[in-house]
Amino acid sequence: MTKNETENIKIVADVSDERTSPGELTVKIYSSTDKTFQAIKRLGFFWLIAVASVLIPVLHFVLVPLFLVLGVFFAVRTYRSEGAVLRGTTTCPHCKADITVQPGVLQWPLTEICQSCTRVVRMRKV
Ligand SMILES: [Zn+2]
Repeated sequence: MTKNETENIKIVADVSDERTSPGELTVKIYSSTDKTFQAIKRLGFFWLIAVASVLIPVLHFVLVPLFLVLGVFFAVRTYRSEGAVLRGTTTCPHCKADITVQPGVLQWPLTEICQSCTRVVRMRKV
């Protein structure tokens, strides 16, 4: 039985200078069993698309190898990640706008584009 623990962690956001702002993330930390399962799931997803791409004339010469490689790439990426980001919020250190962190793979540093000033906001663990 796998155990998925969610936890809230404090983060600090910056825009590549000395200004920072605090924030919080809700993350799910994967056990090694979860990581293996998630990685296989991702590999399966891309390989399924690769198999479906066989049916597309001409393009299958490109698409099939592409999705096979992407599958391995994302599976490895998932396996190496610590877990998943469920949600999070912070404020932009530059313009103070609220930033909602999109759910995704937990890999430090996380980045998000500020919707009001289009700066890349980097977030790291405190
Ligand atoms: Zn901003």
